[in-house]
Amino acid sequence: MSKVALITSIAGQDGSYLAELLLKKGYTVHGINRHIPVVAGEQNEFPAEGLMLQSPDFHLHDENFSDDASLNDLLATLRPDEIYNLGSLRQTTAECLRACYPPMRANISALRMLEGIRSQGLANKTRYYHASPSELCGLVNAMTINEMVTSGLCAPQTIALISDFWTVVNYRETFGMYACNGILFNHESPRRSEHFVTRKISIGLANITQGLEQCLYLGNLNALRDWGHARDYVKMQWSMLQQDSPEDFVIATGVQYTVRQFVTFAALELGIKLRFVGKGTEEKGVIAAIISPIAAALKVGDVVVAVDPRYIRPAEKCKASANPVKARHKLGWGPETSLQDLVIEMVQADLASAKAVARL
Ligand code: GDP
Repeated sequence: MSKVALITSIAGQDGSYLAELLLKKGYTVHGINRHIPVVAGEQNEFPAEGLMLQSPDFHLHDENFSDDASLNDLLATLRPDEIYNLGSLRQTTAECLRACYPPMRANISALRMLEGIRSQGLANKTRYYHASPSELCGLVNAMTINEMVTSGLCAPQTIALISDFWTVVNYRETFGMYACNGILFNHESPRRSEHFVTRKISIGLANITQGLEQCLYLGNLNALRDWGHARDYVKMQWSMLQQDSPEDFVIATGVQYTVRQFVTFAALELGIKLRFVGKGTEEKGVIAAIISPIAAALKVGDVVVAVDPRYIRPAEKCKASANPVKARHKLGWGPETSLQDLVIEMVQADLASAKAVARL
């Protein structure tokens, strides 16, 4: 009998990669998705890839699970071996702070899911994975964090995230359930929403080479992030549920790059050598050399990157650097995709789309 998995936020980047991974492993996969749009402009309905939709082992449940009865009915019917609750709200933009209430309601909290598992008599059967975003780690005073997280004053959705984190720990300790938090640092891919800076960069620069845009406007170019590939990270989500006993894990590469470095790598992949001039909001990315025919329509001296103060977050905290050493030792974790390879994959995918649009 194949294992049965239930994945929330199935239409997102992680949901689609995880579904593909589990289908390849022979699971029957059930997916649910939230119904309330999170923020205007956010890509909330990822067009699922081929394997997911074509597989007879994939089932999409398109109902609304905002009440406990419908969720519990689903759990009783599916009796899943594994649940991956990927629906945490993690955006930190001002729009999201203003609009936090509907999406908070749309997420299925750890409490609802774990209580659902328990009430349906599945506590000894169903293993539970909770996606706890790395924003939680920004609340720790220490610059390097591991799985120990402490709380601080924060926005409503962050309070919900902290509540989810500790609920998972509580159900594990109180009821002996197999429940764990995965704290995954930024993980990107060609399926990443354009709302995030990496995808904004790969789309923007690809469009510029094809004459679809003139300049990419960004916020804080000095911001540091630890970026990995989502396809690598979902393997760790699965791995966390295959251990002898449940534990929380931080997944990250352990290496941070600036937004400026990401832009530089992406531009190089498109045949553009950039030179940054100026400081602060006056900083510009200027073409220093054209090194491939992809960028043949551009010329040396063109300004293709600039800072727009609207994209600078007023209260941005320095993101803590991650310490994934526990995952390395216990899960054998190590990122398979380098940042350079991630950039290449994202840029090439967006270049193909830009070329298709330019041909129209
Ligand atoms: P997150 O903040 O870790 O959820 O991921 P993002 O991709 O949204 O942002 C990563 C970093 O890039 C943050 O420090 C942002 O301030 C910085 N950044 C600079 N320019 C931009 C931009 O135009 N859009 C976004 N989303 N982030 C930007």
